[in-house]
Amino acid sequence: MKSQDNQPSPPERPTSRRRFLQALGLAGAASASAAMPAAHASPRDEEELVTVLDLSKCIACGACVAACKETNAWKHPEPEHPYPKMYPARVKVAEWSDKREVDDRLTPYTWLYIQSATVEYRGETHEINIPRRCLHCFNPPCANLCPWGAARKQSNGIVRIDADICLGGSKCKSVCPWNIPERQTGVGLYRKILPSFAGNGVMYKCDRCYDRIDQGEIPACIESCPMEVQTIGPRKEMVALAHELADEMGGFIYGETENGGTGTLYVSPVPFGLLNEAITKGPGRPGLGPAANSMETAENLTWAFLLAPVAGTAAGLLKAGSHLIHEAEHDQHPTAKPRTARASDPDSTDSSHGGIEG
Ligand code: SF4
Ligand code: SF4
Ligand code: SF4
Repeated sequence: MKSQDNQPSPPERPTSRRRFLQALGLAGAASASAAMPAAHASPRDEEELVTVLDLSKCIACGACVAACKETNAWKHPEPEHPYPKMYPARVKVAEWSDKREVDDRLTPYTWLYIQSATVEYRGETHEINIPRRCLHCFNPPCANLCPWGAARKQSNGIVRIDADICLGGSKCKSVCPWNIPERQTGVGLYRKILPSFAGNGVMYKCDRCYDRIDQGEIPACIESCPMEVQTIGPRKEMVALAHELADEMGGFIYGETENGGTGTLYVSPVPFGLLNEAITKGPGRPGLGPAANSMETAENLTWAFLLAPVAGTAAGLLKAGSHLIHEAEHDQHPTAKPRTARASDPDSTDSSHGGIEG
């Protein structure tokens, strides 16, 4: 178990890696090669993965943020300038490509950042640090309500946005209770098919390092943390762990019921209401307040019902179009390497188009 100088060692628990390998059916293979064939590593449907974050341990060292940026840099947008003029003009340019180093909020290049709060609780001062990213909801409105089928929930619980077919319309952001996805202009399919009319970019967020998980590895942010703040494993086991931790510290859980339940369980020694008041909130800086199940509203249910068959077809057509465009570009510039060359198709592990049943 790793620990930093002068930092308390975390209590002994089964490591995140062991729990994770158990979830993948690789128990006993904790020393297995990281390059496990994907066919052996795919979690079964009933083994949706959940992460638990013990906030009492986070020291805001930023190792997870750096690891996320470095590991996922190949997925980050490389926009083409100049940007086409947009109609209607209210579609604003979202330009982050010259601010890639920003690490105090979510951006298309920063899928994880650390919020900090100082709160008084029961006569004590608590400094709490909170790694923030997509929560990978069980019934994600971002996926259920994406009109193009670009946002999807996989059978292993990962909610992904397919950068090949996202048109940047920001529906996923507007329906997310935490407004997590962030848009970058000048990249993606809109430039090829609707350069002046689509949402002018692509939406980005944490994809839970789906490619690492496909290879039997744990997400980079979990692996890099010196305090073992995060644990990943099957939902049932992670819910039990979160309650165990909360009981031990007389603490609180966030993410178990919010938005109808999420794949991210924060455990804190102080109430989340106090943390929500103390953290800096705003664009790219999500809150920690109550979040009702957004897929229970009549409007969202209706839209999900109407979109489910259409979005699946749209996604297929857009994907095919995207491949054709990539091939044509490759024929014109054979030395150019497609940026999405390593991206596996979310369809391969999709349980549905992020349908109502999630
Ligand atoms: S989660 Fe771990 S790596 Fe990330 S800031 Fe906290 S202690 Fe550091
Ligand atoms: S937190 Fe937001 S972006 Fe992430 S899965 Fe839930 S609704 Fe989608
Ligand atoms: S799971 Fe992967 S993509 Fe998500 S925050 Fe961690 S390192 Fe970044």
